[in-house]
Amino acid sequence: MTPDCSDSVGCSGIRPFSSCLANHGLVLTRDNATTLQINVGLNCNLSCRHCHHSAGPGRTETMSRETMAAVTAYAARVPFAAIDVTGGAPELVPGIADFLAELATVSQRLMFRTNLVALHDHGGDELVRHCAALKVALFASLPSINEGQADGQRGSGVFATSVAMLRRLNEAGYGIQGSGLELNLAANPAGAFLPTGQQAAERRFRQELTRRYGVEFTNLVTFANVPLGRFRDWLETSGNLAGYLEKLAAGFNPCTVAGLMCRSQAVIDWRGYLFDCDFNLAAGLPLGGRPIHVSELSGPPPAGLAVPTGDYCYACTAGAGFTCGGAISS
Ligand code: SF4
Ligand code: SF4
Repeated sequence: MTPDCSDSVGCSGIRPFSSCLANHGLVLTRDNATTLQINVGLNCNLSCRHCHHSAGPGRTETMSRETMAAVTAYAARVPFAAIDVTGGAPELVPGIADFLAELATVSQRLMFRTNLVALHDHGGDELVRHCAALKVALFASLPSINEGQADGQRGSGVFATSVAMLRRLNEAGYGIQGSGLELNLAANPAGAFLPTGQQAAERRFRQELTRRYGVEFTNLVTFANVPLGRFRDWLETSGNLAGYLEKLAAGFNPCTVAGLMCRSQAVIDWRGYLFDCDFNLAAGLPLGGRPIHVSELSGPPPAGLAVPTGDYCYACTAGAGFTCGGAISS
């Protein structure tokens, strides 16, 4: 059924996401898989308040070289249009440079997600040069253009280090028009509210980063904080969980469902197991309802499989909705 986008926005109150879908005559099933996202582990140099994985310096989950080899072999036998490497902080994973080089040989488009501070402190110019040589597209998280707000979410001094790293990336050609080196930014709200419009946010970031810091970038994507992990803990302890879920559910937009990333992504965790999206990974809901290891798979996850859901799915469908590539509708 094609949803009516004109007047059917919203779900009343907090109800299971699946029943909200049903009320709109919708079901959430997989489509053809076009992107392979690889979560290489939860070790991170930061401990952001909004982190849906509760990643941080104390986490030891890390992809082994053996699992990297199994993932590369899978990506070689099943061509995906894009491969997206994320974490934690992927820079902290031993063997990450070699892994990127191997993935570059089997993917048309290779993406790497960084919190900038890890690239500054642990990757350095060598990893930047390596990514540039492989034409890896960077997605750098920068929650806010406001220094106090960004540091409040991520830790003292993070904003200044992030800007310093953005300048170094510009010097290496990243984010400079015509260089062929993409430097995309990812922004999210400071708390329990929806992001502002993506286009307006991009204009504001571009104006401020250029004027104040001389920094250029390619595109900006915005996303809502997903009520899982450390962010959910904060919502609970601050008494904001019910209100935030209500707000997300009230903003349910049926026209985002066709474009949800769980329909077109396959996500592999650090152990090599498959999920429909990084949020289901955080929630422990495997693709197809049972643990499937990448070494067992000969093809992409089949279209038509039901996608398991939770209340956090309302974050993907509120307002304009979002995916790892940004807002779904304008
Ligand atoms: S949000 Fe990203 S940078 Fe922050 S703790 Fe989580 S994985 Fe690390
Ligand atoms: S969290 Fe978002 S991407 Fe994941 S299953 Fe739910 S709606 Fe799909």
